[in-house]
Amino acid sequence: MAQNADTHPNTAARRGVCLVISAPSGAGKSTIANALRASDTKLRHSVSVTTRQPRPGEKEGVHYHFRSMEEFEAMAEAGELLEWAIVFGRGYGTPRAPVEAALAAGHDMVFDIDWQGHAQIRRALPADVVSLFVLPPSLEELQRRLHGRASDHPDEIARRMAAARDEISHWREFDYVIVNTELDRAIAEARAVLVSARHAVRRQTGLADFADSFADSFGG
Ligand code: 5GP
Repeated sequence: MAQNADTHPNTAARRGVCLVISAPSGAGKSTIANALRASDTKLRHSVSVTTRQPRPGEKEGVHYHFRSMEEFEAMAEAGELLEWAIVFGRGYGTPRAPVEAALAAGHDMVFDIDWQGHAQIRRALPADVVSLFVLPPSLEELQRRLHGRASDHPDEIARRMAAARDEISHWREFDYVIVNTELDRAIAEARAVLVSARHAVRRQTGLADFADSFADSFGG
């Protein structure tokens, strides 16, 4: 049978990948996640809920859903968050409904969340999660990058350095780890993780008939 975009088996239904990317602040995970999305229009971004204030340029519903602590607690209480954590004293959480809808429709999603969120989401969706930890090239470089973010107060930078140590201590809990020394290379490595995850045998629900048909055709 001739194949085209509609009949090629690679387009067969499969369950989406949950690509969780974690790193200390300043290691470059948002940049990497943005680059993955820019080159792959089918990759969805999980927009988190946060109780922190928007930074300049951040838009409601695009970078975060900005909510009060009361609203955040109500969402957590109602089970509307797939995972949530308190990071730097503020609430952060992943809305459940968009994730469930995207996965069922076979869309992949990228999550920019911390190690606590990773642990919870892995428990919630054990078959769907593939996780990547991004390390900075050195502590000095991390400090330099955090200072480059003019929107954060010096006290905030000091807190983030302390939190970075804690975040990094969890790197072994992830499936993959990369060192972001050179951004283009880190993006290529992250993309390789996503592509591998997409091709995992357990995800190819729509490929079974096609693959099994070989055995039938060979009479095996
Ligand atoms: P920022 O305030 O710099 O945007 O994010 C601070 C930290 O919160 C980062 O480590 C980020 O990955 C994490 N974070 C953002 N959204 C979520 C979320 O929905 N859940 C969890 N657990 N962490 C999140």
